[in-house]
Amino acid sequence: MKRQEIIEFIKEIGVLQEGHFKLTSGLHSKQYMQCAKVFEQPKNAEKLVTALKKSLPSNIDTVIAPAIGGICMGYELAHTLGSRFIFAERQNGQMTLRRGFKLSRGERVLIAEDVVTTGGSVKEVLEIAREAGCDLIGVTALVDRSNGSVDFGIPFYPLLKIEVAAYQPKECPLCQQGMAVDKPGSR
Ligand code: ZN
Repeated sequence: MKRQEIIEFIKEIGVLQEGHFKLTSGLHSKQYMQCAKVFEQPKNAEKLVTALKKSLPSNIDTVIAPAIGGICMGYELAHTLGSRFIFAERQNGQMTLRRGFKLSRGERVLIAEDVVTTGGSVKEVLEIAREAGCDLIGVTALVDRSNGSVDFGIPFYPLLKIEVAAYQPKECPLCQQGMAVDKPGSR
């Protein structure tokens, strides 16, 4: 899928919404992204992850994802790649492997996330895999919203890079047009 096709598709399925939004940061934006909606219809997730697969290295032993955001993404990707899937989660604030999940030395690991903004959770998962002696193949995500500000130190394979412009309410062009503001997180 070409970039424009991906954008049209995620608009169609309600992932990328256009309007006038108040983000959790307090900033206003013309766009709002609800990535969880990709996985509402597994067929949609399959379509996007299949497109992503083409740009990924092969022979991945294990896909590992940070909970919660990365779980559906990592599972769908592991299914597509025919690899194992595990996830890490926070316990007392610390990202950790629970539920009997283990990593082995030399295992070829790909880290999966739905949306990368600051990359904080991904970096913590990366550290877990590094400490286990894994072969760190790369990081992948459906959407990279970092504006190029994140460096994982290993290859990064996002399906889509997107920059969402955000404004201070006082400087928001949509407020100036008198357009009503929507707070998407509250619905
Ligand atoms: Zn506004």
